[in-house]
Amino acid sequence: METLTAYIRDIPDFPKPGILFKDITPLLLDPNARRTAMQALVAPFRGAGVSVVLGIEARGFIFGALVAAELGAGFVPLRKPGKLPGATHRVEYDLEYGSAALEMQRDALRPGDRALLIDDVLATGGTAAAGLVLTGQPGVVVVGFACLLELDFLHGRAALGECRVHSLLHY
Ligand code: AMP
Repeated sequence: METLTAYIRDIPDFPKPGILFKDITPLLLDPNARRTAMQALVAPFRGAGVSVVLGIEARGFIFGALVAAELGAGFVPLRKPGKLPGATHRVEYDLEYGSAALEMQRDALRPGDRALLIDDVLATGGTAAAGLVLTGQPGVVVVGFACLLELDFLHGRAALGECRVHSLLHY
C-alpha cells in the first residue's frame, strides 16, 4: 500500500494558505496504481452485500464509480447544493476550509439497501459525517466509509461514530 503514496502529490497552500492539499490526480493517471487503490478500497467490503455506493462530490465520484462497478452495486452521487434535479435531502456541515452542504436525491435509497460511502480524503470528518446523515434513511444499513487518505491529526473518524472506517493511507 505504501507504494501508493508515490502517486499522491502534496500541494502547499491550496486552496487556501495553510492547507496542504493532497492531490490524487497522479493516482488517477496511472492505470495500475488506480486499480490497486480501487481493489484495496473494495477488499474489506467484498461479501458485505453492498447494494449501493455513495460517492461524495467531486473526487469521491471517481473512486465511488469504480468501486460500484467492481461490486456490481448501484451508484449514488452526493452533490453540492443545487446540482441535483428533483426532490433532495440536504445536510449542512463544516469543512477543514470553509462550510458547505451536501444533497442526495430523495428517491436514491430504498429500505433494505446496504450502503458504502466513498471519498478521496478524510480530514475533519465533516463531509463524511454529512454523507452518513444523508445515508441514514429508513431501513438502510451503512456498511462503512472508505477513502484513499486519512489525515489522522484531524481526528475525522471521531466524527463518524460507530461507522466502519477504511483508509488506505494515513498522514
Ligand atoms: P473534511 O470534511 O474536513 O473531512 O474534508 C474532506 C473533504 O474535503 C473531502 O471531500 C476532501 O476531498 C477535501 N479535503 C479536505 N482536506 C483536504 C486536503 N488536505 N487535501 C485534499 N482534499 C481535502
